[in-house]
Amino acid sequence: MSLSRRATYESWDLRCPSTPTHSYFYHLNPIGVGTPYVESLTGYIARLAREHCVRPRALISREVAPRIRKPYYASDRRSLNAFDTAINGLGTTASNFVMTFERLTDCAHLSGTTMLNWKNVTNYRSLIRGSKAWCPWCYRNWSATGKPIHDPLLWSLEAVKICRRHRQWLRLQCLRCSRRIHHLVSRPTPGYCSWCGQFLGARDKTARPSQKIIPKTEWKWQLWTVRNVEEILAATSRLTSPIPVGHLAQSLELHIDKVSHGRATKFAERISVDRSTLNQWLNGSSPNLRNLLWICYQLKVPALQFLSLANTGQRIRTLAKDAK
Ligand SMILES: [Zn+2]
Ligand SMILES: [Zn+2]
Repeated sequence: MSLSRRATYESWDLRCPSTPTHSYFYHLNPIGVGTPYVESLTGYIARLAREHCVRPRALISREVAPRIRKPYYASDRRSLNAFDTAINGLGTTASNFVMTFERLTDCAHLSGTTMLNWKNVTNYRSLIRGSKAWCPWCYRNWSATGKPIHDPLLWSLEAVKICRRHRQWLRLQCLRCSRRIHHLVSRPTPGYCSWCGQFLGARDKTARPSQKIIPKTEWKWQLWTVRNVEEILAATSRLTSPIPVGHLAQSLELHIDKVSHGRATKFAERISVDRSTLNQWLNGSSPNLRNLLWICYQLKVPALQFLSLANTGQRIRTLAKDAK
């Protein structure tokens, strides 16, 4: 071949392509972030353990406990039930678990599977119930439509007693064995009783949820409570940092001015709390979730609006709009 007829071939880039780093555990995203049915962290841990074919106890004692230097969680003598309610809460346990699992799974937004984003506006008292609660109709619908059965954070809150979709009280005991089910168990199967293996969803396809006789005022309060918690969960599950410190006190001050023309004693009467309790909240302590919701209910102000002031308030409202 003469020099003038040489072919020109494509050029090859022989540099090694950069490969993304992989996470230590599977990159399993929590279910329902940005919706009222965002998964709880205990539910997420159970699902992650299942994906890795290990028990949650092994995952926590061998992987989490050494990383957060808490041998307490590694002890076989400790029941998971000794700290499983705290995992979904707003204290140090929740914070340690969120940080560790975010690092190990490379997933963001795990704080939204706990109450950590609420820690500056409410406290731990009567926050997370001691065992699971569930709506059998939600379980059945998810199962029938092929959606993943999961444990929403919403149902783990003590203040939430009904399913708004199905107008039913949440169930607290297995219908077959009558036992309560812990948030984290050694052999979890979402939607099934950890004691007797019974499916916890409603079984009869044709039956409809029964309407229990509930006093109208109680029902109205329950519906309001769940709707408002749903709205805030949908919004805060996407936040990367908690609702700021001082937000609650600012909102209270704003409403004292607006509702009672600056007279705190009159305002305390309006929201049915004593003056000293109101003072504590104005000075930085937080009411429990039930009381926080009760204040908003008395003021006829949606809880999301009550917690949404200037600056971050707009952000929370925008997130809530996006979640709808
Ligand atoms: Zn339901
Ligand atoms: Zn059972």
